[in-house]
Amino acid sequence: MAGLVMDQNDLFTMALGLNTPWKVVRSGLEQADTESKFLYVDLEVEAGAKMPCPVCGQICPLYDHEVKRWRHLNFWQHPTYLSARVPRIRCPQHHVKQVTVPWARPESGFTLMFEAFVMALARELPMAAIADLVTEHDTRLWRIVQHYVAQAHAEQDWSTVTTVAIDETATRKGHRYATVVVQLDEQREQPARLLFMTPNRSAACVGEFVTAMPAHGAQAQQVQLAAIDMGPAYQQGVREHLPQAQIVFDRFHVMQLAGRAVDEVRKQLRGEGADVKGALWALRGNASMLSEKQLQVRHDRCARHKELGRARALRESLQETWEWTQVEHAQWHLKAWCSWAMRSRLAAFKQLAQSIRNHWDGILAYYPHRITSAAIESINGIIQTARRRARGFRNFNNLKAICYWMAGDLNLKIPSAFTHPV
Ligand SMILES: [Zn+2]
Repeated sequence: MAGLVMDQNDLFTMALGLNTPWKVVRSGLEQADTESKFLYVDLEVEAGAKMPCPVCGQICPLYDHEVKRWRHLNFWQHPTYLSARVPRIRCPQHHVKQVTVPWARPESGFTLMFEAFVMALARELPMAAIADLVTEHDTRLWRIVQHYVAQAHAEQDWSTVTTVAIDETATRKGHRYATVVVQLDEQREQPARLLFMTPNRSAACVGEFVTAMPAHGAQAQQVQLAAIDMGPAYQQGVREHLPQAQIVFDRFHVMQLAGRAVDEVRKQLRGEGADVKGALWALRGNASMLSEKQLQVRHDRCARHKELGRARALRESLQETWEWTQVEHAQWHLKAWCSWAMRSRLAAFKQLAQSIRNHWDGILAYYPHRITSAAIESINGIIQTARRRARGFRNFNNLKAICYWMAGDLNLKIPSAFTHPV
């Protein structure tokens, strides 16, 4: 019955999913310092083994060994390190080469399983928390994230992209901005996918996206629709770099402007000495999002200040534009809205009405296509979550990597912690 007896080393050999000629030769807990222990697992190839040349695959005799070490997943609370005498072979064609090991990628000090674990955590937790959890310095962990995200993003296929949303997003306090390009599915079957992120918010950012397209199997001509805000930068960018794309001003941005107009009215009242304290938040957004107390504040301020009441009513009426299912009805509604706004004696709303008239076709272009602004809002939400998590991102590339990882639908070439033997 000797075959059933398995020692600890055999157990680790199996647990690590190792095949001949690799096997665990030593393992155990060792004292790291007075407080902590670590688990060591030492690997070797069987004596007399022959191994393939990493370049041509020819089975070659071993030449010498070099000891290397990798951080692996914790075993219970103990950090685990694999160390191995990694052979070099002598290939008749390629001379002396180090063999590749199945548990780590070349040049990494971590096992693939450890890296898979870090990548899974990086979608859910701030990097500082991950660094604490696995007791590693965060710069080493960022290197893992950068590696896998860059590789997977480089392989992202953009050949089916026909509709994009291009938007600015704040990357830091103090008004640092980035431009993001998001793929929208017109059928709304697929979630929005973050394709591209670059610092600044200018027409040239659209050009940078277009420059990146060929490497992803795509070209500018295939983009038929571009949802953007009403600022001049992206209009110019789309006209210059995405010549086939029809511009759609999505309702998210139109309503954002309406929100700002309400705010303008409030500020002006405050400037005139009116008591509008506490009204800032109460005046923002839809009634359904407010607490009872906030609603009370809203009603109270709007009743006391006719201008605020009018501003709120204008905002709510504008929102109804998109509730019409027919473009003719929406157009009629918007026309009526603009003339109401022009007569409102509220400068901010007059200005908004003017701006809507100037962007008329683009706003109504929503109708045949019904580009959903929810997608743009959700990507924006993810970016803001990433930004908060990485409090004080010193490095734009780190923020970008996390955003791509969280919102880019990337396909990582890494064994899954849940399907691979640990
Ligand atoms: Zn060779």
